[in-house]
Amino acid sequence: MRKCSLSAINSIFEEIAKNTMLFLPVDNKDGKAEYKKWQEGFLLSEKLNTVKSPKEFLFPQTENLMEFKTSGKNIEIIDTRTAKEDFVVFGVRACDAKAFDILDKVFLTEPRDSYYASCREHGTIITLACNKPSETCFCSAFGIDPANPMGDVSAWKTENEMFFEANTEKGEKFIELIKNLTEKTDNKEVKKQKEKISNIMKKLPLANLSTEKFGGGKTKELFDAPEWAELSSTCLGCGTCTFVCPTCQCYDIKDFNTGKGVIRFRCWDSCMYSNFTLMAHGNNRNSQKERFRQRFMHKLVYFPENNDGTFGCVGCGRCLSRCPISMNIVKVMKKLGGKTND
Ligand code: SF4
Ligand code: SF4
Repeated sequence: MRKCSLSAINSIFEEIAKNTMLFLPVDNKDGKAEYKKWQEGFLLSEKLNTVKSPKEFLFPQTENLMEFKTSGKNIEIIDTRTAKEDFVVFGVRACDAKAFDILDKVFLTEPRDSYYASCREHGTIITLACNKPSETCFCSAFGIDPANPMGDVSAWKTENEMFFEANTEKGEKFIELIKNLTEKTDNKEVKKQKEKISNIMKKLPLANLSTEKFGGGKTKELFDAPEWAELSSTCLGCGTCTFVCPTCQCYDIKDFNTGKGVIRFRCWDSCMYSNFTLMAHGNNRNSQKERFRQRFMHKLVYFPENNDGTFGCVGCGRCLSRCPISMNIVKVMKKLGGKTND
């Protein structure tokens, strides 16, 4: 384990940025945290989480896939990819780091998504323990410990110092890069910090949200539950919950005629939209109730069914704070039988 004083952290950012692109959460003009490419004077945000999750580093909101040029009956397919640069994402929380594992299950399972895989290979993820998990956090319901974030390197911030521990080969390289700016240390301070975080977690209102009612094999029981009608009755179908969610991974692929050729791109989509998966014969989910149910059944039943019990939610709490009608996965879980200690 290595450590540095907090006053040295900007020198560390400078050192990383000399070698590779560095992204970290900084406060924007509205006082909200968002990931930005580091530049001189940028300070690491103190906020617990960013408005948009870091999934964009692996799965961009829009991404060109290829280009076509036609000449008579001939079509030329052009691979528009340029060599991907290495990058570091600093300050990823435990929930968002776990979300990367969930995205891996989707994009790195055969047939492997080479666009995603390339981002994954080039990115080094530095996670940061959450010193003050908030009342909207419920990562522990999904077995995530905010005091022990995974990633290539785990970091902990105390009042005066930052601690680093490598978990992977990429992480070792990162530690080597900052070696001259850090010093070797034992894990006593980190242990104390973990205990503090763990005590806060135990007191949070959603700490004991139970997932017992959900998981693989529950389709029959939950699909026809009468509660979906009331739960979905005010949903606007705006898709905000899916766009801020670190685990939502639906996308659409479209062609755009530039006049000189056709660019094929993909962009995030939302199962909450009325034209999602619209086909020539019509739509397979015609009401907002069906679309709403799909989103939550996917996270709580279908995904764990197909992925050895892993849920498609990491309890980051973004949908709790962003939905314009205050609907969210916790309300869904409680209504369908999940218990809490509040
Ligand atoms: S649940 Fe909320 S955020 Fe999601 S689509 Fe409905 S209204 Fe929008
Ligand atoms: S469903 Fe909500 S709480 Fe769960 S991961 Fe997505 S945004 Fe976070």
